[in-house]
Amino acid sequence: QVVTRFAPSPTGFLHIGGARTALFNWLFARHHGGKFLLRIEDTDRARSTEEAVAAIFDGLEWLGLAGDEPAVFQFERSQRHAEVANQLLAGGHAYRCYATPEELSELREQQRAAKQPMRYDGRWRDRDPAEAPAGAPFVIRLKAPREGETVIEDAVQGRVVVQNAELDDMILLRSDGTPTYMLAVVVDDHDMGVTHVIRGDDHLNNAFRQLGIIKAMGWEEPIYAHIPLIHGSDGAKLSKRHGALGVDAYRDEMGMLPEAVLNYLLRLGWGYGDEETISRDRAIELFDISGVGRSPSRFDIKKLENLNAFYLREADDARLAALVLPRISARLAATLPDNSEALLTQAIPSLKPRAKTLNEIAEGAEFLFKNCPLDFDEKALALLDDSARELLGKTADALDAVQSWTVEAIEDAIRRVAEDAGLGLGKVAQPLRAALTGRTVSPGIFDVLFLLGKDKSLERLADARN
Ligand code: GLU
Repeated sequence: QVVTRFAPSPTGFLHIGGARTALFNWLFARHHGGKFLLRIEDTDRARSTEEAVAAIFDGLEWLGLAGDEPAVFQFERSQRHAEVANQLLAGGHAYRCYATPEELSELREQQRAAKQPMRYDGRWRDRDPAEAPAGAPFVIRLKAPREGETVIEDAVQGRVVVQNAELDDMILLRSDGTPTYMLAVVVDDHDMGVTHVIRGDDHLNNAFRQLGIIKAMGWEEPIYAHIPLIHGSDGAKLSKRHGALGVDAYRDEMGMLPEAVLNYLLRLGWGYGDEETISRDRAIELFDISGVGRSPSRFDIKKLENLNAFYLREADDARLAALVLPRISARLAATLPDNSEALLTQAIPSLKPRAKTLNEIAEGAEFLFKNCPLDFDEKALALLDDSARELLGKTADALDAVQSWTVEAIEDAIRRVAEDAGLGLGKVAQPLRAALTGRTVSPGIFDVLFLLGKDKSLERLADARN
């Protein structure tokens, strides 16, 4: 059975690169009918925070990428990690190193001066621990092979080879008995039954070291897939300035739908022909590691916005209304009346075709919830000159006469006003839009009138003429 995992360190938000790693692991597991597990790598006690753990769970849940079992917290497993270190010690695959910090920094200085790579020299590898002063602190180091090479057949990077002479005897257990990150990852992956390690290629070098532990324990090697990191649109490593924000920022600040973010993440590094919009189900059906490219993908916020625009058009109106309403209320700094959600749901079809984000829908819908007098923007104000006001008077009369307030009846009335005045429909609609919304951009004018209702429409027309 295929078992994958996502193993974030809870030291910040769930960023877009992490979310993509989670998605690829999730999809790979789903595609193969396997399991997707979550492991919180919280062994760095100083930098791990509960807020970050919460942000990771929250972000994954929003994207629909929850683990199939309760998350494993790495720090809770320290005893088990130490146990494995001691097992390696007992089996002769590891040894106690009593080198003092002073000794080691001296070694580093010498290596630096000689322009040699900085590496532990194995000075306690074959020494008798009895030579150490009684009670002296020690670390446990892996007795790594010095000859030969270590090979990884990486599912994305291909065959990668490292000379074992380049890998020094790394620390497994620190002098205070705490496990190192390398040890913890290997032990946890093994105990969790992980078969495929899919992660960023910044971990490729770690994989060689981790394999050393796996081989020493005689455990089965997982299949590695190190995926290229995401770069900014300018080719530089992705940073905040490129949009390397937390997943929550895409949801809260930018107003993206999870299905759009998910589709975008999928397309970042994985492709299937020219298909841009790929549903979750189709992704499960099609996803495989072989489709992941070897060159870094570039983050492109425009593409994400276009996908979001697509998914907004696909989305259910009531769902969008529920997502947009709090944004309107925040924009207006007001609590909205009870019937607002129903009204907004009615308005969504005329708002969503031109919107790229939930924020843009909120902006477009705002006029429905304002009170007189409206805050006219400059362009709208400029449209409301004397002749426009006169026209608005005629329009108001015509609308007042409309008996049943339907889009058709409204349209008839407005068309007649235009005809009588010998004007094109646009000439009537422009000042009307300004008067009703305070803006020069809005949904179609008949929709605007219909959604506002007769009373509000007439109130605003009267107000604009004063
Ligand atoms: N905790 C590591 C990180 O957040 C990932 C380790 C792994 O996937 O093996 O970068």
